[in-house]
Amino acid sequence: MVKQVIESTIDGKIRCDACPVMCYISEGKSGACDRYANVGGDLIRVDPLTIIENRKDNGGQLVSFLPGAEDKDWDGDLVQAKRSFVTAVGAGTTYPDYKPAPFIVSQQERGVDMVTVVTEGIFSYCGAKVKIDTDRYLGPETSAVRVEGEPVGHVTTGEYGSQMLSLGGVHHLTGGTKKEGRLTCDALLRLCNGEAVAMTIDGGAGIVVKAGTAPVINGVEEQRMRVGCGSATIGMFAKQWARHVDEVVVVDDHITGVLSEHQAGRVLNIPATGIRIKGRRSTPGRYFQVAEPGTGWGGTNISDPLSILGAFDPKTAYPGLRLLMVSTTGEQYGYYILDENLVPALQTSLPDDIRLSVEQIAENCEPAVCSVLFMGGAGGSLRAGVTRNPVQLTRSVKDALTYVSCGGAPAYVWPGGGITVMADVTQMPANSFGYVPTPALVAPIEFTMRLDDYRALGGHMEAVVPIEEALKVAERKVAQRQDAPWPTERQNFKWQA
Ligand code: SF4
Repeated sequence: MVKQVIESTIDGKIRCDACPVMCYISEGKSGACDRYANVGGDLIRVDPLTIIENRKDNGGQLVSFLPGAEDKDWDGDLVQAKRSFVTAVGAGTTYPDYKPAPFIVSQQERGVDMVTVVTEGIFSYCGAKVKIDTDRYLGPETSAVRVEGEPVGHVTTGEYGSQMLSLGGVHHLTGGTKKEGRLTCDALLRLCNGEAVAMTIDGGAGIVVKAGTAPVINGVEEQRMRVGCGSATIGMFAKQWARHVDEVVVVDDHITGVLSEHQAGRVLNIPATGIRIKGRRSTPGRYFQVAEPGTGWGGTNISDPLSILGAFDPKTAYPGLRLLMVSTTGEQYGYYILDENLVPALQTSLPDDIRLSVEQIAENCEPAVCSVLFMGGAGGSLRAGVTRNPVQLTRSVKDALTYVSCGGAPAYVWPGGGITVMADVTQMPANSFGYVPTPALVAPIEFTMRLDDYRALGGHMEAVVPIEEALKVAERKVAQRQDAPWPTERQNFKWQA
């Protein structure tokens, strides 16, 4: 584990300088965040420094190998036989930021001298963007999202079969009550570390969110992400339906589709059926607002699909007309035949071809998943741990001379000012995140560039050490994900082009 520099001791208590709290820690105790401890008079970063290693035999999984545990093959050869990348997980923080970052390591990448600046950032302004694959109504846009009754974020837009939440941010972390800040920080910490977090939405549902797993909505685990909106579903399956049924309505809270009126139906010469849909007609065969949003059919509040139909037009409709009503996931469906009064009569079984088309809708739905993206900004004082002239780091990132990663996972850098990044928490090593009680989230961040570029941006050259120095204290290694770029690879940088 990584030892920290001790700058002050009083009565045997060591002062931790890793954040503004500046705990004095007695022998055998840990600080307020449980991230640092006094072990025999040394100030120790409790979580192990984590490296990522690319080995052909690891199967590309992000798997933790703790000393003496699963890694029976570990031969101590950290440098020569395999490529290693020092992540900021367990690296520690330097505070205030004018001190060089905890690790500034050099290594060669195919003949090019590279450097990686490694630090655990303290993020007082950070948040998480959450994508929940569901059509079910979670609550009104802009509604507060609460954990244990405290607001920790809000509902944003519904997009493409997913509902987005925006959680955290400076207003919840620091702008509300102490309890709001503490619960927001705790919720972000648990979410980013891959734990399940129960939330309620004002005027909406109770949900449980866990990165990489299905959302639980009002106690029910979501199964499928919809295949598309009602109109798109008509477009996809019109041909399968054309020969086997006279009319199809795909019920959807956003855009309900009607086969005979839809452009797809017209191209396939499907005749009018006299169907009438309650709702606001958009373009042909596409209806908005057929019902209120809810957790029923297609994200509406209906349990009886016939409730969105008006009476059939007797000039066009006829007894025996075959009608399929289906939701955008294929989870709900009903097959009807018009009786002599032109009233749809529910049939107890589906004809085989119709059943197959419903099954195909379901087959085309992907599993519903919660995605959690950590969003942090490194455009502030953290940059001083990298360079004496912070704006040079910003420019270097914008110029694609510096590659940003979070725990080795690729970080998307937003355009515009600052260094605002987003990273998928499921691509990061387990338990990458910590907190300090200010409150703020602690997250790993690494800046990788050519050594010459580091020198040019005013880097702390005196603090550069060979990677072997860091590897000596690394106690946890994880295998590289096959789908993630290797942080020092040339293609991450403009100079490769
Ligand atoms: S809260 Fe943690 S990081 Fe901050 S001073 Fe205390 S022990 Fe150090």
